[in-house]
Amino acid sequence: MTDLIQHFIGGARTEGRGTRRADVFDPATGAVQRQVALGSVADLDEAVRVAKQAWPGWAATTPLARARVMFRFRDLLEQNGKKLAAIVTSEHGKVLSDALGEVTRGMEVVEYATAAPELLKGDFTEQAGRNIDAYSMRQPLGVVAGITPFNFPVMVPLWMAPMAIATGNCFILKPSERDPSASLALADLLKQAGLPDGVFQVVHGDKEVVDAILHHPDIQAVSFVGSTPIARYIHQTGIANGKRVQALGGAKNHAVVMPDCDLDKTADALMGAAYGSAGERCMAISIAVAVGDVADRLVDTLAPRVRALRIGAGTEPDVEMGPLVTKAHLEKVSGYVDIGEQEGARLVVDGRGLKLQGYENGHFIGGTLFDDVTPSMRIYKEEIFGPVLGIVRAPDFDSALRLVNEHEFGNGAAVFTRDGDSARAFVHGVQAGMVGVNVPIPVPMAFHSFGGWKASLFGDHHMHGPEGVRFFTRFKTVTTRWPTGIRAGADFVMPTLG
Ligand code: NAD
Repeated sequence: MTDLIQHFIGGARTEGRGTRRADVFDPATGAVQRQVALGSVADLDEAVRVAKQAWPGWAATTPLARARVMFRFRDLLEQNGKKLAAIVTSEHGKVLSDALGEVTRGMEVVEYATAAPELLKGDFTEQAGRNIDAYSMRQPLGVVAGITPFNFPVMVPLWMAPMAIATGNCFILKPSERDPSASLALADLLKQAGLPDGVFQVVHGDKEVVDAILHHPDIQAVSFVGSTPIARYIHQTGIANGKRVQALGGAKNHAVVMPDCDLDKTADALMGAAYGSAGERCMAISIAVAVGDVADRLVDTLAPRVRALRIGAGTEPDVEMGPLVTKAHLEKVSGYVDIGEQEGARLVVDGRGLKLQGYENGHFIGGTLFDDVTPSMRIYKEEIFGPVLGIVRAPDFDSALRLVNEHEFGNGAAVFTRDGDSARAFVHGVQAGMVGVNVPIPVPMAFHSFGGWKASLFGDHHMHGPEGVRFFTRFKTVTTRWPTGIRAGADFVMPTLG
């Protein structure tokens, strides 16, 4: 018997009306540990109906009252951080310390959202015209939805929900069906924090619920994070249905390694960025562009470290890398290693076929390192989303930068150098939304905004931070003029506006 992971609608768990179910695995053992209810159109309709009912009341609360809910929610996240991390590890597979890091990064968005009264303050111009004042305000959209990927089941929903709720919207989350439990833990904590029923709801599911979201006339905006083909589809379908859409897609993040870099520190940075969370991060570094004569030294420094990666179940102490999320994903990643070999890249470290004692059916693959990767190869062009790092050799800085800029994706990019001029030229010229200088995974803090360029983001707004406030609100500008009246004493003639 397996537990059934239910929806959270109107402040309570419900099996809903959909009858389809999906297995949720323990990635370390490969065993099915639970099932998740896959929602139907009727389940989504019900969540929207409840949200619409809750919205006028929630929108009428003061930003300060909403901020107080966020303060309590933030404290509850801190108190329950380890529990949340354990849920993430059990369904995603990443190591516990990494899962706790994801909770913290999500909590930071909640901390930002506690500033709702400040964030929603408008501008005021006295005397915009003679005896005329003008002011602006931001108002909530209504019922909005978020659709999230498997790789950050706590952090990515927290990129969206606190911003949507603190700005006065009702938010419906459609989490990944591969690790859906964390969303219910978030729902419980929000309820405990005093959030009224119907303001945050969870409807599990797959394409059926996603399509219902995209076509529902009462959903005003859709925030999406996931792979590029789905992001493109969400954006196109959402805007065709008159919705506001931000859709963040896949990535192939490059690190440009200059000959003058601190090689030891750069190699450490690349290890964490390429193999942390088994490469299942949208900001993972999957390509290192070695400039000039640094290439051989870089490969020689990296290879023993990749071989020495401590791999195991995410719950075990001192493990650096856990399993991949599903067997299907393991097969996909191993398949890319096969492709890389066939394409002629030099396989320096081969992680395929890794079997761990006691976890023989777990979704494990070892760290993999390719050298001599070229831009025409599929392992260069496509997102692998596993612990596979490819080295591309470039003769100079300009050709390295050109490589980054000619790639389809533009999520993050980093440069490793001691030279301020190279760093500045990189920052200035690189076509990516998030840029690191000697920082391998330049994920912006919550008070900045997160988002890529090119095929890594469809829409006009990045996530959270100031962009999150803009995405979840509508701008209104008011111009006022008050006719003189009572102040001037009783008036016995017909008033006119001259
Ligand atoms: P995914 O695109 O398979 O799924 C994302 C969401 O879309 C899930 O909720 C899923 O249920 C839904 N979905 C999947 N197939 C669908 C379909 N055919 N129609 C409608 N909805 C569908 O992504 P994933 O495998 O869960 O996550 C990994 C991907 O997400 C990677 O490509 C990664 O780069 C990307 N990602 C990007 C960012 C970013 O900020 N740019 C952050 C995290 C993850």
